[in-house]
Amino acid sequence: MNCRQVVELMTDYLEGTLSAADRARFEEHIAGCDGCRAYLAQMRVTRRLVGRLADEPIPEPVERELLEAFRNWRLP
Ligand SMILES: [Zn+2]
Repeated sequence: MNCRQVVELMTDYLEGTLSAADRARFEEHIAGCDGCRAYLAQMRVTRRLVGRLADEPIPEPVERELLEAFRNWRLP
């Protein structure tokens, strides 16, 4: 699996709709690719923010983690 394929499958991965075989190949690539790992982390944060904008309830631990992230981003 190359980077382009990983990016294409990222939404499916986050939604848990990948087949077991695809998920294994996806995670194998992520484990060895800094760029895709960073992109995946960014996607996770973005999806949480989008969920918040849509006024979906966010479990408290996730919200705390998000607030913590914002606090860190504001640091010089
Ligand atoms: Zn990659």
